[in-house]
Amino acid sequence: MTVPVQLKGLRRKFGATTALDGLDLDIAPGELVALLGPSGCGKTTALRIIAGFETADSGELTMDGQDVTHVPAHRRDIGMVFQSYSLFPNMTAAQNVGYGLRVRKSSTAERAARAGELLELVGLPGREDHYPHQLSGGQQQRVALARALAVRPRVLLLDEPLSALDAKVRLSLREEIRRIQLELGITTVFVTHDQEEALSMADRVAVMQGGRLEQCAAPAELYERPATPFVAEFVGTMNRLPGTVRDGGVVELFGRRLPIHGAEPGTEGRTVDVLLRPEGLAIRTDAGAEGMSATVRVATFLGATTRLHLTTETGVQLKADVPSWEADGLTPGARCTVTPHEKPVLVAEG
Ligand code: ATP
Repeated sequence: MTVPVQLKGLRRKFGATTALDGLDLDIAPGELVALLGPSGCGKTTALRIIAGFETADSGELTMDGQDVTHVPAHRRDIGMVFQSYSLFPNMTAAQNVGYGLRVRKSSTAERAARAGELLELVGLPGREDHYPHQLSGGQQQRVALARALAVRPRVLLLDEPLSALDAKVRLSLREEIRRIQLELGITTVFVTHDQEEALSMADRVAVMQGGRLEQCAAPAELYERPATPFVAEFVGTMNRLPGTVRDGGVVELFGRRLPIHGAEPGTEGRTVDVLLRPEGLAIRTDAGAEGMSATVRVATFLGATTRLHLTTETGVQLKADVPSWEADGLTPGARCTVTPHEKPVLVAEG
């Protein structure tokens, strides 16, 4: 099986700044991979290198098994959508969509048919004659997507395509892009700084830090089994709680022994940080329950769950989520007992 896009040890420096520091990533056919990471981690540089707008200092980029490291952008067969809509303002929606085909010398009839078909696909039937200024931001971005797809690219690149849109439009366009991507089965790389966007849209999320790949995995795996403390704390909410390594490679937290996944836990008696999600803690209010005593500082109703900010009697602050129907009485000042659920946990240096 050929890999549509393969990044091998890509490095790129801008002066003294290292944007990419040996980035490796394989993208499978028809897959949507989101590049996620803190500002400056190299997401955009990676995407621009795939597009051919930027060249790596070293490393290799292959598409369908061919080395394209030095192939110019216009010969890479790529469709790209940017954050700013970047439509040609003096062209209609149909002319914008047909632009790439005109460059490729398709006939007028062919262009019109393809533009109609694509505007229909992106949910804008009958808008062929509208100019960009007659369309909303979300509609313009749909046209930009149709334009990128018109030439039947082998890879679609999306550079924060939703971040200029308001929350509601962003949400609906997120679903639309995913529907279209699945319908066409087009291999797609998506840059975003929005975790929720990455987790909800992608087949796999590539978490980057400092120009390198930390982990690339399906959203649930990334959330449930983060490979590194960085991924654990970057994706979703995480507590860092003091635990003690016990014989046999388990960690003791609040009186309970938990299995460890990932790194070597080290020697008996060593103090480590246990990484636990707010939903990984059970809260009880009945007298005599085993675990760590704590006091509620803040209780925030979030719908199905209520997030509690707690301080344990040893002075540790943590967050715990409880089903809202069990949150009665868990108001600021209330006393409770905290116990970790018995699931494998990740530990980090304390
Ligand atoms: P953001 O989420 O803020 O867009 P990013 O993860 O996309 O960040 P990049 O834009 O790839 O990160 O930038 C990586 C690093 O390289 C940053 O420190 C950035 O300042 C630097 N950089 C990127 N492009 C250039 C350039 N053309 N000239 C100089 N420095 C650059």
